[in-house]
This record gives sequence, C-alpha cells and structure tokens, in this order.
Amino acid sequence: MPFFGGIFLEDELKTSSRMFEFIYKMFSEGKVSIPKNGISTLPKHLAGQLKNTEIILNTSVKEVKSDTILLENNKTIKTDYTIIATEASDLISNLKSQKTSWHSCDNLYFLTAEKKVGANFIGLLPQKDALINNIVFIDERKARQEGRYLLSVTVIKKHNLNQEELIKRIKKELKSYVGIQELEFLTHFYILKALPIVQPVEYDIMPSETLLKNGIFLAGDQMLNASVNAAMLSGERAAMGIIELENLNH
Ligand SMILES: Cc1cc2nc3c(=O)[nH]c(=O)nc-3n(C[C@H](O)[C@H](O)[C@H](O)COP(=O)(O)OP(=O)(O)OC[C@H]3O[C@@H](n4cnc5c(N)ncnc54)[C@H](O)[C@@H]3O)c2cc1C
Repeated sequence: MPFFGGIFLEDELKTSSRMFEFIYKMFSEGKVSIPKNGISTLPKHLAGQLKNTEIILNTSVKEVKSDTILLENNKTIKTDYTIIATEASDLISNLKSQKTSWHSCDNLYFLTAEKKVGANFIGLLPQKDALINNIVFIDERKARQEGRYLLSVTVIKKHNLNQEELIKRIKKELKSYVGIQELEFLTHFYILKALPIVQPVEYDIMPSETLLKNGIFLAGDQMLNASVNAAMLSGERAAMGIIELENLNH
C-alpha cells in the first residue's frame, strides 16, 4: 500500500516514538504519494467499487444502537451490523468515558511562483517564534498552467488570531523565514479534530477486536495510529470482523 504522505504534525511525532518509527518505516519501504486529483480520490475510488450500496452524504448520525441508526433529522435506519468509522463516544450510550483527545491545526493554502523548497520535500520551520510548522509546495495542474505552485502551510501552535490576522502573520513569516515575496491567499481550514492522540500506537488489529458490542464494530485512525493507512486497515478489519461473525452465526 503506498503511504499517503505529505504533512505530518510535529506534535504527533513528539507524543510517540512508535509513531515516529512508523512514519520512517513507511517512508523507507515504499513510495510516498498524494493522489493526482487530491486525497478525495481515495473515498471516491472505494465508493466506485460498490455495486449494491446506497451512500447518504451530509447527514449526521445522532445515535447508534445494535439494530438501528438514528439520524440527526430523526429518521432511523434498521441495521444488521454497523461500523462506526469515527469517534464513537458521542454516538453510543455509556461510552462517554472513552473520549478521544485530538490535535488541532490550521491549514492555509496560497498560490506562488516562488518555489523555495526542492521537489517532494516537506519544509519544517524550526524557529521557536514561528507559527508555521511546515510548508509543502504542491505541483498542482491548474496552478502549473499559470506558472505557479500550490503552497500548503500547516500551523499546529495555539494562537488567538482571527483569520485576517493569521493570514497576515503567515505571509510575514513566509517572507522573512522562507523568502517568498508574492503570495496569493486561497483558503484556510481550522481542523479541530486533525489527528487523534493515540496511546499506545498500534499498527494492526484482529478483526474480532473491532467488535464493540451487539453487532456494532469500530474503525478509524483513532483505533490504531493517526494515518490514512490506519483508517483503511481498521475499516478492512472491521468488515472482516462482520464476515467472521456472520460465518459463526450460520
Ligand atoms: C493537515 C493534515 C494532514 C495529514 N496528512 C496525512 C498524510 O500525509 N498521510 C497520512 O497517512 N495521514 C495524514 N493525515 C491524517 C489522516 O488524514 C487521518 O488519519 C485520516 O483521514 C483518518 O481517517 P478516518 O476515516 O479514520 O477519519 P476521518 O477522515 O476524520 O473521517 C471520519 C468521518 O466521520 C464523519 N463523522 C463524524 N461524526 C459523525 C456523525 N455523528 N455523523 C456522521 N458522520 C460523522 C466526519 O465528518 C468524517 O468525514 C493528515 C491529517 C491532517 C489533519
């Protein structure tokens, strides 16, 4: 499986030397890649393989029970099995004590013609007073047509700046620390639940271990470690857990 590399949060590496080892193992073993048309290619590819599946988007789940999913719009879905592929503590009664803690981050995107970091490198800013943690120049098709690069900037330090102040500060840091003079701001995301703080970090899980209770299975990066690999692997294990249970019951 290729490692969907790019941007890692220094905090995550600090919290666990096993996570650090995992990342370096993945970097050394295989190709590090970002899908040509963006990371959403992954779910689109998975969805494209499904023949008998209805996908309901933009709909929040309020509660999950052994045979029902209750939606935020108060509709219910009858179920044989459920895989919860996100933090489950708010969705299941009596699970509140098992809440996951999260790292948050700001992601800002700019367009620039001034590429200051060589091909396929992640630029880390070690300066103590810098808000920016890392920068990545992405060779994106549309930007390339204009002779420019997409620049991704990640901030993991806590701050009290509003969006306007943050953009100003980041532009200033990009000028003084990286030497980029011309920048066009594109967009900003604040990601509250960016990476789960997982202790201990695991790399794999038995299918049977994904069963929470009564036909409810769990998946998601918070089960193993903060990566796309962990998200996909835990989802596969949960699906295998359901197949194993079905085989046992019949
Ligand atoms: C800036 C950044 C850079 C990253 N870079 C990398 C990288 O280079 N390589 C890498 O491997 N990983 C990277 N990661 C980590 C990676 O993105 C995550 O580990 C991965 O997306 C986790 O996938 P997931 O399916 O477990 O969770 P998510 O992708 O968070 O999916 C959970 C989904 O559940 C939905 N949801 C939550 N609650 C409800 C509800 N009540 N009802 C309905 N839906 C709900 C959410 O909206 C969300 O869509 C990065 C993360 C960040 C933030």
